[in-house]
Amino acid sequence: MRGLMMDYPLTVGKIIQRANRVFADKEVVSILPSGRKHRYTNADLYRRTVRLMNVLRRLGVKPGERVGTFMWNHHRHLELYFAIPSMGAVTHTLNIRLFPDQLAYIVNHAADAVIFVDASLLPALEAVAPQLKTVRQFVVVTEDGTEDNTEDGTEDGTGDGTEDSTEDGMPPEATLPETTLPETTLPETTLSPIAGFEALMADADETEDFPELDEFSACGMCYTSGTTGHPKGVVYSHRGIYIHTLMAGMTDMLGFGERETVLPVVPMFHANAWSVPFLAAMVGAKTVYAGQNVSPEALVPLIREEGVTFTLGVPTIWNAVLQYLRKEGGGLGELRTMIVGGSSAPPAMIRAYREEYGIEFIHAWGMTETSPLGTVNRLKKKMDHWTPEHRMAALTRVGIPAPIVELRIVDDQGQEVPPDGASPGELLVRGPAVASAYYNNPDSAVQFTEDGWFRTGDVATRDENAIVQITDRTKDLIKSGGEWISSVEMENAIMACEGVLEAAVVARPDLKYDERPVAFVVPAPGGKGVDPARIIESLSGQFAKWQLPAPEDIRQIDQIPKTSVGKFDKKVLRARLEG
Ligand code: ADP
Repeated sequence: MRGLMMDYPLTVGKIIQRANRVFADKEVVSILPSGRKHRYTNADLYRRTVRLMNVLRRLGVKPGERVGTFMWNHHRHLELYFAIPSMGAVTHTLNIRLFPDQLAYIVNHAADAVIFVDASLLPALEAVAPQLKTVRQFVVVTEDGTEDNTEDGTEDGTGDGTEDSTEDGMPPEATLPETTLPETTLPETTLSPIAGFEALMADADETEDFPELDEFSACGMCYTSGTTGHPKGVVYSHRGIYIHTLMAGMTDMLGFGERETVLPVVPMFHANAWSVPFLAAMVGAKTVYAGQNVSPEALVPLIREEGVTFTLGVPTIWNAVLQYLRKEGGGLGELRTMIVGGSSAPPAMIRAYREEYGIEFIHAWGMTETSPLGTVNRLKKKMDHWTPEHRMAALTRVGIPAPIVELRIVDDQGQEVPPDGASPGELLVRGPAVASAYYNNPDSAVQFTEDGWFRTGDVATRDENAIVQITDRTKDLIKSGGEWISSVEMENAIMACEGVLEAAVVARPDLKYDERPVAFVVPAPGGKGVDPARIIESLSGQFAKWQLPAPEDIRQIDQIPKTSVGKFDKKVLRARLEG
């Protein structure tokens, strides 16, 4: 017997339609590439999304075609996030920090038909344009047409935005159509053919045309950074994104709602900005997009001025913010929740935010391939009674699996490891928002098991409370004398030492032991520099003698090289060892 519920496709267009009907007056604030502040409402976002859908149609974009975005985090990128999938095409968010060859590779591989590019990013795209084989139209996004709706970014907000009208409880004034003025001039560029975003918008009609789409059809693409070989394309479906958004909104997952003001520091070109654009629209949260400057000097005032209550980003960002706060003083205003993932958050940082700033610092794990949320670590009720040390140890883990992510941790024989919090194994996942294959990539079959699980390439443990810890990436583990050393554990232990700002541990080939750990350590500013003997001494409480790095393998450097999404770039460090 079949159920008699409606066949109601779960599609991205429904999310923005709801935002307009239910939360029309909610604000979206953006820092434009020039540093000016722009604000408008969900009603404006919706109307411009509708126009943009018609712009895409006029450009000849067909359902299923890929439309690239090469942009920072701001409202026009958000409009594309909704317009492209709502008219049936596929958003391909291009990582603006990829090496040129990789950028050209992913545009060609995805066969992008149109690319929207921020004016400030034109040079990077121009550099690869001769290699692009499928793009028939570039659209440049300038700041023209935004004058009437921007602030000058000064702290006293002397711009003429609608900010004040929200303070007395009145809805902000409707601000359309000021932002549909066409560009007066386009920037000089070698990209061709080129059109101006606002010129296209000014000409577009406002007919609302949301086609009924198959919920299994593609709505977005994102290539993983490709630590080895070419980047691999993950293709999201409407259904996957919709279900992922519902899940992300659950109280014990991201769990933010209408009352929150959310700042995704994670780039919109990376893994759906961790679902924030979709979830904020679905639940009616005010959102703040930080544009291109995510330095602490820019982020901290923005968090304070806009009353940000909820934010998300990678550990390197929050480490920099912590250093800034300690130096400059002051706090983070109304901020109360910080979701941190993408790489391991050092316990010292978790402790500092929770204890010094009273912020609920929540560790999460995810991947481009999992849309991206995989696990989230909110403490369980029974942990309220644990000792502070015990609770802190639990907080450094990455949490329980999201309700739509089924997870297994297996040993070399494919057997599940015991849930003892100590036995490591390879982490496998499956679920409705987990990739089932990479786009057009026959070689990628090895990353999937025969019975349909995705091999994450992460090494993890699971404890009796079903809490997962990522101990390493398979390729980053250090194998010394036949035994494993977790590079992540060692990094975290070094970063907990006094006088250390950051540390990354990689393997150095060794004739006798196969591999030995080498720690690259950045000293904290104003200190005396790195003291290998003290680091080894403090590690010896946590690591066996054979695991400890030799003093000459603790090397001071000025900064840890980072990948395009702000993670430690161990590939570069390994190359340094060879060179
Ligand atoms: P890439 O890092 O290859 O560009 P992703 O952004 O998809 O691609 O990264 C996913 C990987 O990031 C995971 O497989 C895992 O190794 C790492 N990661 C994510 N969150 C965490 C975390 N909280 N702790 C440790 N590692 C993490």
